[in-house]
Amino acid sequence: MLFATRCPVCDARGPAPCPACAAELRPAPALPPPPGLDRCAAVLIYAGTGRELVARLKYRNRRAPLDRLAAAMAERVLAEPDVVTWAPTTRSRWRRRGYDQAELLARAVARRLGRPCRRLLARLPGPAQTGLSLTQRRVAPVFRATTAPPPRVLVVDDVVTSGATLSAAARALRAAGAAEVDAVVAARTPLKRALVPADTPRSA
Ligand SMILES: [Zn+2]
Repeated sequence: MLFATRCPVCDARGPAPCPACAAELRPAPALPPPPGLDRCAAVLIYAGTGRELVARLKYRNRRAPLDRLAAAMAERVLAEPDVVTWAPTTRSRWRRRGYDQAELLARAVARRLGRPCRRLLARLPGPAQTGLSLTQRRVAPVFRATTAPPPRVLVVDDVVTSGATLSAAARALRAAGAAEVDAVVAARTPLKRALVPADTPRSA
């Protein structure tokens, strides 16, 4: 079976995720968008099986569930954007992994929506959030737009915790001329655990 896939959560052969793990995924509730965004939708709660799924995608380069996640994300997009973009990760993280998970998701979501996907944001130098203390993590990243965006922009990200990253992305896009900024994310941390570092791998 050359093209057999495995469940990214439990490693069972077959669909990714397998039906048993898929049944344990919890849908994210609708919540008010972070400041600066018109709408923000999330697919999963970043806890339990959902956390495992997204974290493994993030840290182990398991891309099998990416298309399914992207399809579910695209379904939650309410307003058709002119362009899809992403909040780029830090340069050091990109070098370590060789890819930007948010970009992979953005490209897959854009394909589903039949909209163009373009890099619109650059992350200004700053510390990566992984491994930092809560105090350090409260320092939001800063982005600048690398080109003038069209009026309606959809920002894709993998996990939203405080919303500070999406707010910073929206600020940069609006400063460069975007009129509407929406976001769709694969997972959001449960509200009660919003202060638990979302980027911490469980066993990577
Ligand atoms: Zn499974």
